Amino acid sequence: MLADNLKQICEEIQLACDHVQRPIEDVTMIAVTKSVESYQAEELIKLGVEDLAENRVDKLLEKKAVLKEFSNVKWHLIGNLQRRKVKLIINEVDYFHALDSLKLAEEIQKRSQKILPCFVEVNVSGEESKHGFKPDEVLSFIQDIAVFNKIKVIGLMCMAPLNASDSEVHMIFSQLKKLQLNVSEQRLPHAPCTELSMGMSNDFPIAIEEGATFVRIGTAIFRGA
Ligand SMILES: *Cc1c(COP(=O)(O)O)cnc(C)c1O
Repeated sequence: MLADNLKQICEEIQLACDHVQRPIEDVTMIAVTKSVESYQAEELIKLGVEDLAENRVDKLLEKKAVLKEFSNVKWHLIGNLQRRKVKLIINEVDYFHALDSLKLAEEIQKRSQKILPCFVEVNVSGEESKHGFKPDEVLSFIQDIAVFNKIKVIGLMCMAPLNASDSEVHMIFSQLKKLQLNVSEQRLPHAPCTELSMGMSNDFPIAIEEGATFVRIGTAIFRGA
């Protein structure tokens, strides 16, 4: 079941890459395991998946502890992170996808023992319910954290609205791509900003067409499993 789903998703990733003539190596599929148990995450690892994501601190710590023998796995924290939880988690993750405030950046700077690859979260669609910076705040935020030597801004992250049309989703992802280019052109040493974390189960082909380098996929992997 899982293997079939994975195969199908890989084919869709390949198709989307072909469509815009991007090499598939440029796209990393992150498996979002937030809705499944550790044993299901383990099955995925055994099928060759190396990037796993959780959106909650406790769940990530729990799975990472159960699966600690699989030292090749890279752990992504993709959800909103409360400042008081930074110290519990920040040295347990390989990537953080939801950097959304200066206060959070300060706390990460204080608690992290290594340089952490981070994505700045952008609220491209402007929905009130969403976290993230407004597009026009992103560059100045990134400039403000230049002094924080524990944070490396490797890219930007966004989520498209749930019930947007395909053309709206295209527009949102292409706006994030433009913003990413804008930041990377500044050649800031702490913010290469070459990556784009965008695309979930129902919109990852569009995200890839618009330049996603990390897609975060949950439901589509575990459907029927
Ligand atoms: C749950 C989640 C995903 C995966 O969503 P699916 O629709 O299940 O693929 C991706 N990104 C974030 C931030 C999430 O919370």
